[in-house]
Amino acid sequence: MMERFPCPFCGVIPDEPFHAGYTEGIMTWRIECKNKDCHMIVVGFHPDKEKAVTKWNTRSNPLDNN
Ligand SMILES: [Zn+2]
Repeated sequence: MMERFPCPFCGVIPDEPFHAGYTEGIMTWRIECKNKDCHMIVVGFHPDKEKAVTKWNTRSNPLDNN
């Protein structure tokens, strides 16, 4: 499993993407911030688990400048 970056809004590390059903026959995955107080929870649906993590990570905006 790829590393998951902390949520850009609250800093909580999300759980692994989970199977969220099918869209037009394609298995989709969803990744969420697990902080119930965080308003930016759902990232979206993606065709595979790694893409879901990549999408999540690119939403992250770490404060360091790496
Ligand atoms: Zn969050």
